[in-house]
Amino acid sequence: MDININVLEIQQKINKIKKQDQQVNLVAATKYASVEQMIALYHSGIKKMGESRVEVLLQKQKRFNLPVEWHFIGTLQSRKVKGMINEIDALHSLDRLSLAKEIEKFRSKPLKCFVQVNTSGEETKKGLRPSEVMSFIHELKPYAKIEVIGLMTMAPNTKDTQIIRTCFQTLKSLQQEIQQKMTWATCENLSMGMSNDYLVAIEEGATHIRLGSILLKHNE
Ligand SMILES: *Cc1c(COP(=O)(O)O)cnc(C)c1O
Repeated sequence: MDININVLEIQQKINKIKKQDQQVNLVAATKYASVEQMIALYHSGIKKMGESRVEVLLQKQKRFNLPVEWHFIGTLQSRKVKGMINEIDALHSLDRLSLAKEIEKFRSKPLKCFVQVNTSGEETKKGLRPSEVMSFIHELKPYAKIEVIGLMTMAPNTKDTQIIRTCFQTLKSLQQEIQQKMTWATCENLSMGMSNDYLVAIEEGATHIRLGSILLKHNE
């Protein structure tokens, strides 16, 4: 029941704040969710599941048979690619060429990928520096299995909305630069926004938000 209400409230907020022609895809970040909760999420209308650990993804897929898109949103170690890469529909965390090489080797058909960018400069955050992104995407061009459909970032965990907003704006302007200069990478999507900052992300042009804790919170 809580999950239903949560999803409904979030959908209303999204619809209120998004631009008319803006498509916002809600990806459930399911690292805190049980399979039972994921089934409830599915019946509340969520059809994209985002896991962040390979072992958990494969386990949950065995027990969850409803038709959803599986997005991988966590750090992906190269040695784990082989066993999972054909089980997912999208990857939000492409951040190095060695990972692209493994994907090229083991994936059977093109994979929708977001290039992860560290827009905050925090050392603990994964992703390429903004200044590295253009050349990285250039280098990906020969990779037939990598389809760069967008960029992804994680903003810092802070109450300072302006800091968060600046990160999202950095991602957006990188995307615009890529779209101007590249002919091969469509890069039309922005995966940004989590429970604490998804409304700011939508204002700054998010097409994919990754929500975890807010979907599972208990209502009084
Ligand atoms: C856990 C996680 C999220 C969701 O975080 P919440 O704050 O719980 O919404 C989003 N993206 C990634 C990559 C995550 O690991």
